[in-house]
Amino acid sequence: MAEHKTINCYPRTKCPTGYDLLQDPLLNKGTSFTDEERKLLRIEGLLPPGFNSMEDQIARTMKNFREKPSDIAKYSFIMDLMERDLTLFHRVVLDNLIEMMPIVYTPTVGRASQNYSHIFQRPQGVFLAEKYRGRFRQILANWPLDDVRIVVVTDGERILGLGDLGVSGMAIPLGKSILYVACAGIHPHWCLPVTLDVGTNNASLLNDPLYLGHRHKRLRGSAYDDLVDEFVQAVLDRYPDALIHFEDFGNANAFRLLQKYRDRICTFNDDIQGTAAVALAGLFAAAKLTKVPLKDQKILFLGAGGAGIGIGELIVSAMIKEGLSEAEARRRCWFVDSKGLVVRKREHLTDVKQAFAHDFETIEDFASSVRALKPTAIIGVSSQPGKFTPQVLSDMAQFNERPVVFALSNPTSQSECTAEEAYIWTRGTAVFASGSPFEPVTMNGSTYVPGQGNNAYIFPGVGLGAVVTRATRITDDMFLAAASTLADMVTPEQFRQGCVYPPLTSLREVSIRIAAAVAQVAFEKGLARIPVPDDLLDFVESNIYAPEYASFVGAVAGHSS
Ligand code: NAD
Repeated sequence: MAEHKTINCYPRTKCPTGYDLLQDPLLNKGTSFTDEERKLLRIEGLLPPGFNSMEDQIARTMKNFREKPSDIAKYSFIMDLMERDLTLFHRVVLDNLIEMMPIVYTPTVGRASQNYSHIFQRPQGVFLAEKYRGRFRQILANWPLDDVRIVVVTDGERILGLGDLGVSGMAIPLGKSILYVACAGIHPHWCLPVTLDVGTNNASLLNDPLYLGHRHKRLRGSAYDDLVDEFVQAVLDRYPDALIHFEDFGNANAFRLLQKYRDRICTFNDDIQGTAAVALAGLFAAAKLTKVPLKDQKILFLGAGGAGIGIGELIVSAMIKEGLSEAEARRRCWFVDSKGLVVRKREHLTDVKQAFAHDFETIEDFASSVRALKPTAIIGVSSQPGKFTPQVLSDMAQFNERPVVFALSNPTSQSECTAEEAYIWTRGTAVFASGSPFEPVTMNGSTYVPGQGNNAYIFPGVGLGAVVTRATRITDDMFLAAASTLADMVTPEQFRQGCVYPPLTSLREVSIRIAAAVAQVAFEKGLARIPVPDDLLDFVESNIYAPEYASFVGAVAGHSS
């Protein structure tokens, strides 16, 4: 057996040869093995004799991909490639990012999650189930890669807007891991998707004979907390420098776990903090258009869940940096939830809402709250389509020269208003952004381009900045730096069209700049575990993974052909 020399991320010291090599997605190059390599590696005759460049293979893959009859068929096809040839997979996703993102992530990944147990082919992460309690360290040791830097974990309780999908949530940490690679150039071997199987309260899954998770109700209370603790400890034991990215946990657990771990380990919750930074970046950019600085904005949220409260808290941090006291900053953020305006006299408010409860009259609906408060910005994170009514929008245009209207609920069908409605009812004055994409709108000879507040703008860069510096913590300052970096990358052309985000095509550049900004904070705050490099941007770029086939010739020694 040959010794492997240059493909040093490969976990084993031995490089497989012959048929085994073709079954290994980390090393397989398919028809791109040269004649010399085929001879050296004993795979002559195991492939058709012709040679394809990587570009040929990409062209073949994309042709087949585009011929698939449905998005879910495209998902299965492309995930199949991941299981065959990881390098080609990441190159195809990177080169076709805009086309691939809705397949490898939302919305198609949602369908894939719902069908997980039915379309399951091969595992691509670690499942830590309740039945393995007490042995998580041992289970994690079964993962073959030693240099994991980011663990993306879900417990499947709130998958996108689809609710509790139990163990089927695995498609989400896998999708986020793919986006880390594609958007920020994080090495695929550095990412580990994990699902905590703590049961499910989804009756249809519990009754599905093919369901692959534990068939019991969700763990709650101390049993749940102990399981999460054991998971965190097992990660720290095996991968002491790793960042733990929490994704799609139920609301109550998401906030609680973030509070519990944020000052102890390197961790963040993307639904809360990543969303917050994307929205804040939109507000920073909007301030350049409206000429109203963030600290002078009065923001009314529709929805006070993970996304809304997360955005509110980061806005407070940003306003404090702009000179307000915390009390003044909180006074500029108002919330309406399913029970009406969040005011101090309301009973049974959770702690996170209490922090934004003001002395004010009780108001039960959003439209009346808009009239009473006259906000400069409204942010929809309620999954309540149509709640930004024509009346609400024209009121906003009456109160403000340039009203800020962010309808962030996903998917498109849940958006609080459409882009067209926002522009029509504000007579083209709205600075509009949405969670799901909307086409540009042409009105009275002007074209308005809605911004899409996609979380993919922020988390890959934050992750990259954290892992290359081996940061000990992820702080609000890092998310603030990420938000202002993103806002600074909006081009004059986009501003001219009213758009508050850079084009998604610039995601790689955005992520690298955000990573450098995050790294800067890590160094300034003493949170980095490496010496300060001469040039931060160069340093970040030098850590970027490029999906290129390695040459085996010269890398494989001691082989007798
Ligand atoms: P969540 O379930 O935690 O919160 C939803 C909130 O909406 C709750 O406070 C609830 O009380 C409120 N609500 C429900 N019905 C209401 C009504 N009739 N009137 C007023 N408020 C009502 O959900 P979340 O995680 O906060 O996500 C909310 C939405 O934001 C989702 O649609 C999600 O897709 C979207 N989101 C978008 C982005 C993004 O665009 N980058 C990121 C994260 C979440």
